[in-house]
Amino acid sequence: MIPSDIIAKKRNGEELKSTDLSCFITKYLSGDISEAQMSALLMAIYFNGMTEKELLILIDVMIHSGHVIKFEKSDFFIADKHSTGGIGDKTSIILTPVMAAAGIRIPMIAGRGLEYTGGTIDKLETIPGINVTPSLDKFKSWVESIGCAIISQSKEICPADNKIYALRNQTATVPSIPIICSSIMSKKIAEGIMGLAMDIKVGNGAFMKTKNDAFKLGHLIQKVAISYGLEIDIIYSDMNKPLGRYAGLGCEIKEAIDCLKGNGSRDLMDNTFELCSCLLIQAGKAKDKQESKEIFDKIIETGMAFEFFQKMIFNQNGCLKQFEKNITPKFEKIIRSHKDGTIIFMDTEKIGWSLIELGCGNKKKLDKLDNTAGIEFFVKPGDIIKKGSPIYRVFNTNSKKLDSTSEILLDTIRVNR
Ligand code: URA
Repeated sequence: MIPSDIIAKKRNGEELKSTDLSCFITKYLSGDISEAQMSALLMAIYFNGMTEKELLILIDVMIHSGHVIKFEKSDFFIADKHSTGGIGDKTSIILTPVMAAAGIRIPMIAGRGLEYTGGTIDKLETIPGINVTPSLDKFKSWVESIGCAIISQSKEICPADNKIYALRNQTATVPSIPIICSSIMSKKIAEGIMGLAMDIKVGNGAFMKTKNDAFKLGHLIQKVAISYGLEIDIIYSDMNKPLGRYAGLGCEIKEAIDCLKGNGSRDLMDNTFELCSCLLIQAGKAKDKQESKEIFDKIIETGMAFEFFQKMIFNQNGCLKQFEKNITPKFEKIIRSHKDGTIIFMDTEKIGWSLIELGCGNKKKLDKLDNTAGIEFFVKPGDIIKKGSPIYRVFNTNSKKLDSTSEILLDTIRVNR
């Protein structure tokens, strides 16, 4: 196999064979194919797409690049949720303990930030001591003991996605439908789950900017799920504005804790409930949305949701006592409106990029993230605003970055008189 021949084939729009894809990925993982060659292949896929046949082969190769988890036979329904990514999307952190409290097992493999979207793993790592890269046996034992755990892809589980994911983030190859589909579905199938609730974000802050693209991705995800015998529900949710009250790193964990204690914002709780409802119905725990709402509300009202979250963090070695101290920012600034009117547009992708500027994501491969960085949202599209009233509170521990971000943020809101 000559790597440049395979890259050229894809560049020229030809269909790759099963052996082309499996050799390429295997050699990339062993270091015999360079980052440059993998980047070139990803860019060729970005421009030319993949046939369904190629995509199914790629996913299978990625799944089997590591172990596929097998849980002991039991009565538990084993399931997961995944989102295509957005700004302020902390739903996984809320849903996971809630579903464990409902008796559904959630062995979640999540990712880090991709381009301008936030990553569950980066947010969780603001909790001192937390282990998101356990051995496979440890991960299984956590899930079997309390019902849930959230970890990252690793050398053991989905190493192909682990390595390609980081490369995509450096090479502008993220927003490709087949690449996103392979990244998500390889991880989810390797988890050994029976059901999946998929949240495809659509809008100016999502990778899928149009409904048409979102439906194309949904169609492929459904096809892959069915071919692996997974129960699947897909929701399409709005990402023309950030989700919830905060976006960033530690502040999103703090907001998730508020939600688990019953103090979540409407949009975030609705999104979480929609996905929980899919899983409760798949698991046979509820017959319809009304019954799932009763279960969902009860788990939050009785304190079980927060209790399961604490258990999950404790299992994973995280220390919630030290958490607040670890995420307290040194600097903050309020961004105010220059005029009276109604907010008619939020440039959500730009808000995402300003979060990266602030310290929530890597601009370079080894950049250290600022756990204290984030944005609080005081208004959303449709809200009426007065001149001088606050739009955003921006915070972090680097005043230079705070100033440059504030400049970018001023340009993310359109107000009509
Ligand atoms: N989530 C993933 O795991 N991969 C993607 O490509 C996008 C969202």
